Amino acid sequence: MIIPKGSKLTAEQVEEIERIASDFECSILEIQGRNRCVYAILGDESREVMFKRIAGLSYIRKVDMIESPYKLMDRRSALSDHSVKVGDFEIGVNLPFIIGGPCTIDPDNPGLYLESAHALKEAGVHALRGGVWKPRTNPYSYQGDFKSMDIILQAKSETGLPIDVEVMDSDQLKLAIEAGVDVLQIGTRNALNYSLLKEVGNLTASSNSSVLLKRGRHIGSPNEFIAAAEYIVAEGIPNVLLCPRGTTPALDGYRNHPDESITPLLKNKTWAPVIVDPSHSVGHADFVKACSIAAIAYGADGLCIESHISPSKGIGDDPKQAITPEKMKEIIECCLAVWGNRYSA
Ligand code: PEP
Ligand code: MN
Repeated sequence: MIIPKGSKLTAEQVEEIERIASDFECSILEIQGRNRCVYAILGDESREVMFKRIAGLSYIRKVDMIESPYKLMDRRSALSDHSVKVGDFEIGVNLPFIIGGPCTIDPDNPGLYLESAHALKEAGVHALRGGVWKPRTNPYSYQGDFKSMDIILQAKSETGLPIDVEVMDSDQLKLAIEAGVDVLQIGTRNALNYSLLKEVGNLTASSNSSVLLKRGRHIGSPNEFIAAAEYIVAEGIPNVLLCPRGTTPALDGYRNHPDESITPLLKNKTWAPVIVDPSHSVGHADFVKACSIAAIAYGADGLCIESHISPSKGIGDDPKQAITPEKMKEIIECCLAVWGNRYSA
């Protein structure tokens, strides 16, 4: 990892470094942070002479060798002080970042989504979620409708809140970027779809878009999860949020196996913020509050909670696991109390 003295290398400086790297069969990738750029060495970076030649250049502050399977996501990497911002919200600094909204937008009832959005803003959420396209286990279940994009965009413009929308393939990704979706969600089923992860990184490189990467239901170790995020960041976009959302096998009674307790393990290994999704973890509105508070106690930087003005009128997961805006307000208050106290123990 190459850290320049200034905020960015000039084109000539990049060329000079690329020439050195290519002598050692390596290449250079620019990673654009909010305030400065760092440069990853792709290839076998353990070549001492290459290291010394690059470190000796007058415009280089330092060159770090990170022996890690995820050298950009590693908390020792030059991105360690990178902060992810969604809209004006800097994650992990003052308050837990709360994303709220229905699982699935009902295109035939836009009013329900818009009412939910306003009530959730009132309850204190910082961003809105809403499924336009849905990954459904059953192919005959409702699959989503692009008409819903207009509804969530309307909610964005009426509330001023950033929006989070799941994309499952390349076409959806392009449509979502074009529409100005702030947080591109990669769901649990695509968490190991490496081609899609690369494409997300590539199409959003040098942009302020963020990616909420859910933990795969079948992902085993924290390393595998972080390595999936590395695929995105390695294309040049460092704005990745890691989202534990429950894994298999399910505990009898919960939809998945709640995994908010993975948060401190992730934080030991990577600088990326952790946003826990309690809704899919437990799969029932009654259990969401406890899981949310536990996540914040474990050190999560925020939550993504399915919520709806009138859950029984919702579609997708909403009748079962969405909470109401009143419940959201109560959960946010409890989480703020835990947030304020968690490091004093
Ligand atoms: C969702 O967020 O509604 C969703 C389908 O999530 P997951 O990928 O966690 O199942
Ligand atoms: Mn859902």
